[in-house]
Amino acid sequence: MKKRIVLLGPPASGKGTQADHISSAYAIPHVSTGALLRSESEKGTPLGREADMWTSKGQLVPDDLVVRIVSLWMAEHGQSFIFDGFPRTVRQAVYLDSALKALHSSLDLIVLLELPESEIRRRISDRLSCIKCGATFGATLHDLSAGDACPRCASPLVRRNDDNAEALDKRLEVFRNQTEPVIAYYEENFPKLLCRINAAHGSDEVFASLARNLVDA
Ligand SMILES: [Zn+2]
Repeated sequence: MKKRIVLLGPPASGKGTQADHISSAYAIPHVSTGALLRSESEKGTPLGREADMWTSKGQLVPDDLVVRIVSLWMAEHGQSFIFDGFPRTVRQAVYLDSALKALHSSLDLIVLLELPESEIRRRISDRLSCIKCGATFGATLHDLSAGDACPRCASPLVRRNDDNAEALDKRLEVFRNQTEPVIAYYEENFPKLLCRINAAHGSDEVFASLARNLVDA
């Protein structure tokens, strides 16, 4: 059973949903660096305060600091994880490798959810999110419109501001400039760990392929 997993993919490829599925099906903690950063910052820890210094200036938290926060999480929670959208840059990937090496460990699966750009655009423009619980739903698939009640918590559904075309172009550019080199890095350094999954299939089918890859052959 694979327990140290990196899950990468473009916007709308379903990373968060699949990471949640794996997490509850196999009891592997789902770790998002955004949530870790927020938690350190809310607790006012030294690392959280250091991160605040950057975010308060409107700057990205530096790669080495992100990885220090992830390493601290691993030291406290052990080495079973599914990282969703992390590492985001090659520097983070390199730092993560050294952090794991220092713990006499390494990744055991890198999953890339692949989705054509046309499908990314279609999914984003069709997406509604809940203002309260943050769940997202395909409007067409679930027969929902903006203003309808969230199927999970009954709060109103809205189209997210960052789902507009200009914001999406930016996210796709960030993906091409930062994450695609991460994929190339893993392809070169850990070709046997990298597994590509077609995310254009339905969520259940994607999960089934993921599950097959999680179980050791
Ligand atoms: Zn909701």
